[in-house]
Amino acid sequence: MKRALYPGSFDPITNGHLDVIYRAAELFEEIVVAVAVNDSKCPLFSAQERAELVYQSLHKGIHPVRVLILEGLLAEFAWKNQIQVVIRGLRAVSDFEFEFQMALMNRHLCPKLETVFLTPQEDYTYLSSRLVKEVALLGGDVSRFVSAAVATRLKKIYAQRK
Ligand code: ADP
Repeated sequence: MKRALYPGSFDPITNGHLDVIYRAAELFEEIVVAVAVNDSKCPLFSAQERAELVYQSLHKGIHPVRVLILEGLLAEFAWKNQIQVVIRGLRAVSDFEFEFQMALMNRHLCPKLETVFLTPQEDYTYLSSRLVKEVALLGGDVSRFVSAAVATRLKKIYAQRK
């Protein structure tokens, strides 16, 4: 069975991430969304909250998507779980250098691991979790860019900070 791993910070998940997940679901039998703890990035949401938001944002009824929290090395996790494919999203040339380095490092750590890049629908190419947080925390409407669950959660944080 071809399973694919989609790792990321998902702080929080956006419609761009969801677009990538749905595209990947057309190509693979199971998608494992791995929410990286990434404490060094000082995420707005805890890993548990980010994973819950991923889960709540997914359309129900799409074929198996598992959501879990990833601590430690991605390559090691993939190897232990017999996953050979890592999915990453490419929005623009600016993503390329980092993604390329990471793909080659992961291949170095686990030679059988292949990285597959998917490009979202054009409308989402400018979308990032960072931008969504900035807009939301300044009181802007982000409901076109994220699921209802994420928009509600961001609104709550904005209200608490006001
Ligand atoms: P990371 O900290 O690992 O980069 P992100 O959550 O920012 O985590 O991104 C995870 C993956 O999703 C990356 O490959 C990133 O390029 C991709 N991605 C982020 N936003 C979008 C988007 N709007 N469209 C397509 N891919 C995206």
